Amino acid sequence: MKKLLRFIALFLILQNAAFAQEKNETILAKIYENALLSTQAYNQLGVLCEQAPGRLIGTKNSFVAVDLMKKYLEDLGADTVFLQAFSSPAWICHSASASMFIDGKEIPLKVDALGPSGSSPKKGITAEIIEVQSIEEVRNLGREKIEGKIVFYNRPFNNLLFNTFQAYGQAVDQRAQGPQVALELGAVASITRSVTGGLNDFPHTGSTRFKDKKIPAIAISTNDAEKLSAALKKHLNLKVNIHVDAEDIVTNTFNLIADLKGNEKPDEYLVVGGHIDAWHNTQGAHDDGIGCLQSSEVVRLFKETGLKNKRSIRVILYMDEELYQSGGKAYALYSKENNVKNYFAMESDAGGFTPRGFTLDVSENSLKKIKEFHPLLEPYGIQFLVAGGGGVDIGPLKELGVSLSGYRSDWQRYFDMHHCANDTFEQVNQREMQLGSAAMTSLIYLIDQFDLVE
Ligand SMILES: [Zn+2]
Repeated sequence: MKKLLRFIALFLILQNAAFAQEKNETILAKIYENALLSTQAYNQLGVLCEQAPGRLIGTKNSFVAVDLMKKYLEDLGADTVFLQAFSSPAWICHSASASMFIDGKEIPLKVDALGPSGSSPKKGITAEIIEVQSIEEVRNLGREKIEGKIVFYNRPFNNLLFNTFQAYGQAVDQRAQGPQVALELGAVASITRSVTGGLNDFPHTGSTRFKDKKIPAIAISTNDAEKLSAALKKHLNLKVNIHVDAEDIVTNTFNLIADLKGNEKPDEYLVVGGHIDAWHNTQGAHDDGIGCLQSSEVVRLFKETGLKNKRSIRVILYMDEELYQSGGKAYALYSKENNVKNYFAMESDAGGFTPRGFTLDVSENSLKKIKEFHPLLEPYGIQFLVAGGGGVDIGPLKELGVSLSGYRSDWQRYFDMHHCANDTFEQVNQREMQLGSAAMTSLIYLIDQFDLVE
C-alpha cells in the first residue's frame, strides 16, 4: 500500500512538472507569435531613426527622441511614464574634416570627430604624421618623436577572431586612450583608424577620454587609413590638416522611464532597457534604437498576451550611453537615493540581429536556476545563457547588488555599422528584431514567475 501511495505521489509530481513545462511552452509560443506578427515596434524604430538621427546628449534631436518615445510608451498602455531628470556635461559636434597634402595637392580624407574631441583653430591644424600600431609604441617613441606631430593609430581590427566584440575590445584602446597619450607627449592632434573589420569609406566615431586639456581627435575610414599609410611610405614628410569645430556644454536631460505595474510585488522592478542617444553621424538603428524598441516590446507583449507580471516591469531608455555614460549612473543614483528595489536588470545594446543568447551577471546559484529553463528557449535559437557582463547602462546597478543580463544577437555584422553613417533603419530586419524582443520578454517572464535571481 505504502509503495503504491509513494508511486502515486511521484506520478503526480511528475505530471505536475510536465504540466508546468507545457504551460510555459504555450506561454512562450504566444509571446513569439505576437512578436512575429506585430509591425508596431519596427515601424516606430523607423520613425525614431528618421525624425531623430544624431540624438547625442544635449542635442535638439535627443529631446525630439525622448518626446517621440514618451508618446509611444504612453500609447502602448504603460501605467506610468515619466522623465527622470539629471544634469550632465555634453559635447556638440558642428563639423570635422581632414585632408592630406601630396606634391602641393590637397586630398580630402573621410574622417569624423571622436567625442569629445577638442576643436582646432578655424584654419585647422597642419602637421606631419607619425604612424603607430599601439599606445605602447607612442610611449616608446617619447616626446622627442611625438611633439608637434599628429599621431596616427593604425592597428587593424583582428578579423581572425570569431567574436567581433573581442576584436573590438582589442583595438579600441587606440581610440579610447590613444588621443590622451598622444597629447601627453606633445602631439597636436590624433587620428585613429576606425574600429571595424571591413574596408570601407565610413569613419566610425566613438568616445575618447581626455583628462583636462584636449586636442582634436578624429577617426578615419579604414579605406582612407590604408591610403594615408601608403602615402606616408612614399612621402615621409607628408602633412595633414585637421579641422574640428565642437563645443562643450552642460545640459539638463532625462532618462525616459515607463512602468507596467506588477500584481504581487509592485514595488520590485524588472528593469529592461536600451539607450536612446546615438552619435552625431548616424541614425543609430542598431546602436541603440533597436534596444529601445525591443525593451518597449516587453510591455506590449505582456499586455497583449494577457501575461501577468508579479513584479513591475520598468522600461528605461537611458540618455547618454555613448559620451559620458551619465544616464546609467543617474538611474543608479536615483535608485540608491529613493531606495528603489531593482530585482533584475536587462539591457539590449549589442545590435538587433538574429538572437544568440544572454550573458548573465548573477550569482552562481541563480545562473544554475536560469539555465534549467534553457530547453524552453533553445527552439527559438537561444544558444547560450552564460556568465558575462550586463551592459554599460545597467553596470552601475551592480554596486547595489542587482542581478544583470545582456541580450546578445549575432555579432558578425555589428561593427560594420557601429557608430557610423551605415547604421540605418534599412540595416534592420524586422523578423530578427522581433525574435529578440520575444526572447527578452520570455526571459523576463521566467525570471519573474519562478523567482530565478536572488
Ligand atoms: Zn550602444
